[in-house]
This record gives sequence, structure tokens and C-alpha cells, in this order.
Amino acid sequence: MPIAEIISVGTELLFGEIVDTNASFIAQELVARGVTLHRKTVVGDNLERLQGAIQTAVDRADLVILGGGLGPTDDDQTREAIAAALGETPAEDPELLAWLRGLYSQRGREMPEINRKQTWLIPSAQPLANPVGTAPGWFVQKGGKILVALPGPPRELKKMWREQVLPRLPVPTRTLLHTTVHTQGIGESNLAEVLGDLTKGSNPSLGTYARKTGVDVRVAASAATEAEARSLLEPALQQVRDLLQKWIWGEDDQTLAGAVQAALGGRTLGIIEAGSAGQLCTLLAGQPGFHDAAVTENHARLITLGLTPVTLRDQGLVSEAAAQELASGAREHLDSAVGLAVVVSVAGQNAGQAYAAVDSGEVQRAVAVNWPGDPEQVRERAAVAALALAYRSLRPGGWER
Ligand code: ATP
Ligand code: MG
Repeated sequence: MPIAEIISVGTELLFGEIVDTNASFIAQELVARGVTLHRKTVVGDNLERLQGAIQTAVDRADLVILGGGLGPTDDDQTREAIAAALGETPAEDPELLAWLRGLYSQRGREMPEINRKQTWLIPSAQPLANPVGTAPGWFVQKGGKILVALPGPPRELKKMWREQVLPRLPVPTRTLLHTTVHTQGIGESNLAEVLGDLTKGSNPSLGTYARKTGVDVRVAASAATEAEARSLLEPALQQVRDLLQKWIWGEDDQTLAGAVQAALGGRTLGIIEAGSAGQLCTLLAGQPGFHDAAVTENHARLITLGLTPVTLRDQGLVSEAAAQELASGAREHLDSAVGLAVVVSVAGQNAGQAYAAVDSGEVQRAVAVNWPGDPEQVRERAAVAALALAYRSLRPGGWER
């Protein structure tokens, strides 16, 4: 399998003013085709350093993909750097010059002189047509190595990658299939323990990622054909589903709020939030089953919604008992089939403490969350925990499933 490196060119990338999304795009594309990617480099708009980076990359790798620096201005020096690194002299290509002049004249303008360098080629480069911009790319083949230069604007880079570069690359077309399983309520290290040796394989491969909505498990497999890839993926995916059943709330594009709505199965949902600033409602916005909500930290008002003065006095608002009373209160006072409540403390001694409770008439459950963090994180985690609680309590098959 060929070894590849990616070089992203631009001072704004180097200084972090823009994020290098091109390199992640190219990386995914390469990896999906079984190319071994060894390095990504970011270089500013500097001829000497860019030339050095290209030389080094060409020495180490079989395939070097460059993005950016193909514009017409003096700081766009990718062509100069490739020519210098390979010891070749660029010259204007008459066909490219005619094409670029034509592009300008179609718009009733004359091609500025500084654009001439966009028509350069070196002897070992083929031009890559750019249907959406003025900078053609280069496809360079020399001494068994391939070097590709693409313009920086992502729209141009992606289109040219697909239409111009892929068909020229000597990489086998492979199919990569992947499914992401979403979990909640289990930490990344416990989850890794549950999965055991499954995480050690490379095809199918398993990766775990901590997200706001819990830990995601991505199962991926690649093979020459889709059928082969599927036959590698499916058994591993099924094992993951079986082992994590208790914690799984969805897969791929599904959202936690969507999963809750599905689990509601047409029942209405009422929500009471104290301290979470409407975060739970925000997550549920747009879900059809979402019926009514009260967002308040006012004790007197919470008492009219089901909180008992005794609980408030003895255990406080941020307590499991208060969450349970408010979940039942949401059913009754918000006239809903299912009540969901969250009580959160974002400041003071108990900062990070939260409880969520659900009451569906048949099922009453509560969970505690206690993670310090800034108020925004604390509210969000509490809201996510409440949604996961609702999902797990309401889904067909119930809590333990
Ligand atoms: P142009 O012909 O537009 O000058 P170029 O090949 O010279 O193209 P750059 O000047 O490096 O490309 O980048 C143009 C714009 O494309 C940047 O301002 C940025 O918005 C975007 N861009 C460049 N490189 C990247 C990257 N690696 N990831 C995401 N966006 C990028
Ligand atoms: Mg530029």
C-alpha cells in the first residue's frame, strides 16, 4: 500500500485563523482507500520552508498531496516550491493561458498579468482542470513518486479531488463502511472494558469518542467490495450492539431527542427545569411529542408545580426527591402523559450537582449527575442525562432491556 503525506499551505492555517478542514477531508479519503497516511504538515506562505517540506515529504512518501497556495499573488508559492524541490523550471502552458484568458473574457474582463503564473507547468506536471476557479492544479509524476497540488478553497479542492485526482491515483478502489453507535450513561474506560478485545482489531476497527451526548463507538470495515466490507462490519457491529445494549440510544444520524420522541410512542411529554436555563427544552425543540414546559427557579412557583415544601426545606431543590416530585408534577400540572424534570446547581458549594427524574405513570426513575464544570457544561450534561433517562425508561423493553 502506498504511503502518503499531506501538506497544507497557508500562514492563516499555521496561525490557527482558519481550521484545516481540507487536510481532514483528504485524510479520510486516503484512509478509506487503504492508503497509509503517515503525516500531515502545515507550512506558512514561505518559499524556502515549503520547498523543504516538499523535499522531505517526497523523500519519505510515495504520494504527497498539497492544498493551497495556488492563487495568483506573491504569497501563493506552491508552484515555485514544487519546481524548486524537484529541480525543474516552470513555464507558461499555452493551453492553460488560452483557457484562463477565455475565462476572463467570458466575463468581459481582461486577465490581470499576475494571473499568468496560474498557467505555469513544469515538465513532469499534468494540469488538473479547475471547473470552479482560476487555479488549475498539478499532477506531478517523477521517479515513481506522485505529487498533487490543489487550490485551497474547499469547494474547489473537493471537486478537483473527486473529478481529477482520484481517477489518476493508482490506489485500489475500496469500500469503507462504518456505523456509529451512540451510548449514554457509561464512561469511556468502562465501555472499553465491556468491549474487551473487540477494540484491538484493525479491520473491522473500533474507535470510541466522548461526545456531549455520551460515548460514541464507531465500527468500520474496509474491503475491495461493499459485500465483503459488510461481511466484516456486521458481526462486529452486532457484538457491540449486544454488549452495550443497556446504554445504546441510537446509531449514526439519530439524535438523543429523536430517540426520546420515538420512545414516547405518541405520548405527550411535559418538562420542568430548575437551574438548567431551558437547556432540556432547547434539546427537545422541534420534537413533535414535546407538549409543555415550565422553566423556573422560583420556589413558590415550583411548589405550585408539585414540589412539596417539606422536600424543599429538608433536602433542598437540588435533590432526588425534588426531581421526582417535579416529574410527577409535570404530568399533573402540565397535563402530560409523561413528566420529565431536571434540577441543577451551577454555582456555590454544590456546583455540578444535578438530578433528573421521569414519571410515566407506570415507571418512575431518577438519576444523579455530579461533575464539576462551567455552568454551560453542567446544564448541558444535566439535560443530556435527563433525556437519556427518559429514553431508557420509556423505550420498548424498558430499563434493563
Ligand atoms: P486562491 O486561488 O483562492 O488564492 P489558493 O490555492 O491560493 O487559492 P489559499 O490562498 O491557500 O488557496 O486559500 C484560499 C482560501 O481557501 C483560504 O482563505 C481559506 O478560506 C480556504 N482554505 C485554504 N486552505 C484551507 C484548508 N486547508 N482548510 C480549509 N480551508 C482552506
Ligand atoms: Mg491564495
